[in-house]
Amino acid sequence: MLNKLIIDAECQLENNFSEIDNIALINQQKILNAFKKNEIALRHFTNTNGYAYGDSGREKLNQLYADVLQAESAIVSNNICSGTHALTIALFGLLRPNDTFISISGIYDTLESVINGSNDSDIGSLKDFNINHIEIKLLPDNSINYNKLRETLISKKIKLVFIQRSRGYSWRNALSLDDISEIVNCVKSISPDTIALVDNCYGEFVDTNEPTQVGADIIVGSLIKNIGGGLAPTGGYIAGKNNLVSQCGNRLTAPSIATEIGCNPDGYQYYYQGLFMAPHIVCQALKSCMLFSAVYSIKKYETLPQITQKPNDIICSIKFGNKEKLIDFCTQIQYSSPIDSFVTPLPWAMPGYNDEVIMAAGCFIQGSSIELSCDAPIKEPYIAYLQGALTYEHAKLTLNNCLDKF
Ligand SMILES: *Cc1c(COP(=O)(O)O)cnc(C)c1O
Repeated sequence: MLNKLIIDAECQLENNFSEIDNIALINQQKILNAFKKNEIALRHFTNTNGYAYGDSGREKLNQLYADVLQAESAIVSNNICSGTHALTIALFGLLRPNDTFISISGIYDTLESVINGSNDSDIGSLKDFNINHIEIKLLPDNSINYNKLRETLISKKIKLVFIQRSRGYSWRNALSLDDISEIVNCVKSISPDTIALVDNCYGEFVDTNEPTQVGADIIVGSLIKNIGGGLAPTGGYIAGKNNLVSQCGNRLTAPSIATEIGCNPDGYQYYYQGLFMAPHIVCQALKSCMLFSAVYSIKKYETLPQITQKPNDIICSIKFGNKEKLIDFCTQIQYSSPIDSFVTPLPWAMPGYNDEVIMAAGCFIQGSSIELSCDAPIKEPYIAYLQGALTYEHAKLTLNNCLDKF
C-alpha cells in the first residue's frame, strides 16, 4: 500500500513533472541528432588495448560529447577515475606556477586537498606548485558576491574562475544556467582572458542548455553521475574550447601525446548507451528528488529544492536537525537498495572529506550517485543529500519504506 502522502505529493507535482518531461524530450532530441551526425555504428563499441592509436571508439565518443555539450572539443575517458580526478586534470592542465584562480560558489570537499594541500607534507597539491587560490564565499543569502568578484578581477590578474554548479554539502539550491551566464558575463566584461571553468557534476541535462552554451570556457564532470546514464561503469569528461581541452589532454596522459592514446579493454558500448539514456535517467532522478522534497515538506521538514523551485541539480536536501533521524533515513535508503540491501551504513571518516560521512549507496556501480543514494556529513543541522534513482518507481517504493519507519 502506498502511503497517502506520496499520492498527495504526486498531485501537487503534476506541473513540475510535465516540465521535467519536456526537458528530457529536448535533450533526447539533441542526443539523437548528435548520434546521427556522427554516424555512430556498432564498430565504435570495440574494445582496444595497448596505446590504442587511432581508436575510433574513443575519438567518436569525444566528438559526440562535444556535439551534445556544444563545445569545440571534449575528452571522455574511462581512464579518468572520478569527478575529482577530472577536475584535478583540468586545474593542473590549465594553471601554471604563480597563477591565481578564484572560486565563487564553493568547492567540493574532495577538492580541498587538491587545492590547498595538507599541513604536514608536500602532497603535490596546486599550492605545492605555487598556484594561488582565492575563495570568494557566497553571501549570507547564498547569492554570488559580485562586489568582491569585480574588485578581485580588477585588482589582480586572475587566470581562472571556478564555478561549482551543484550545491555540494551546503544548504542552498544549485546555480541555474541564468546564474552561470551572469557570472560568466561579469567575469568576461572585466577580464576577457580569464577562463570560466564550471564543475558541472550533477548538472547535465537538468536543463535544456549546458554551461558551455551560456559562455563557460570549459566544463568538467563525472560519468557515474548524470551524463553516464547509469550505464557508464567509470570515467570523467572535460569539454570546452579547443586550446583549453588540449592543455587538459596534455595533463591527462603526457605533454604532446595528449589524447592520441588511451585504451578501453572493455569496449565503449556502455559509454554510448549511457549517454543515450541520460536524459531519461536524469528525468527519473529529478522526479524522485521532487517527490522526496514534496513529501518531507508536507511532513514539516525543510527541504530543497522546494516544489515551487525548478531543480538545478538532481539532489534533494532534507534538514533532519537530529543525528538519529538522519542515520535512520540513510539506513532505510540502503535497506531499499537492489544491491547490498542487507548492509547497515555507518558514519565513517572518508578520504577527501572533513567530517565523518554516512553514505547509503546500494548501487550497481560503486558510489554511483545517479543511482538512488544518500550521503550526509555528520554535522549540524544534519542534512541528508539524496540523489538519483534509475527509476522513479524505485524512489517511490523507497520513500514508502522510509514513511513506514517514521
Ligand atoms: C560528485 C562531485 C564531484 C566529484 O566527486 P567524485 O566523487 O570525485 O566523483 C565534484 N564536484 C561536485 C559538485 C560533485 O557533486
